[in-house]
Amino acid sequence: MTVEITEGAKISIGFDGQRCIHARRCVTGEPSVFRANVEGPWIDADGATADEILTVALNCPSGAITVRRKDGGNEEHAPKTNKILVRENGPLAVNAEVIIDGHGEMLRATLCRCGLSQNKPFCDNSHIKGGFTATGEPASKDSKLAISELVGPVTIAPQPNG
Ligand code: SF4
Repeated sequence: MTVEITEGAKISIGFDGQRCIHARRCVTGEPSVFRANVEGPWIDADGATADEILTVALNCPSGAITVRRKDGGNEEHAPKTNKILVRENGPLAVNAEVIIDGHGEMLRATLCRCGLSQNKPFCDNSHIKGGFTATGEPASKDSKLAISELVGPVTIAPQPNG
């Protein structure tokens, strides 16, 4: 895993290109920070306020973007409830305090659902080239869990052909 770090005065931004699924939430969310189609460095960590950059990071589904505050402001925290979103024709998007065997702890991740990723368990967008089609609407089922039970650390143990 290679994370590029861009330092700003109030925040540093990490970008892991292998985890990015090109959802473009960054370049559309703060184009003055995440600059599309430029030569050379494309992230300017002083291009918006630290809070604005944090908001973009929280919207990055893959966890490719992470931030570390230098100004004592808000940091990313575990969500109030754990969530896994099934993306139509694409990966599972996890937002939880998750521990993935062999990859440590993280709060956001997109996990391969088509089986074609060369970076498993993470999505690498191979589903697009592979023409993977699958609904984003899983069958609903009754849950007896209270909201208060939908929090806390989750361990994911990736399985071959899982
Ligand atoms: S996955 Fe994250 S880093 Fe990649 S384009 Fe989307 S928002 Fe940007």
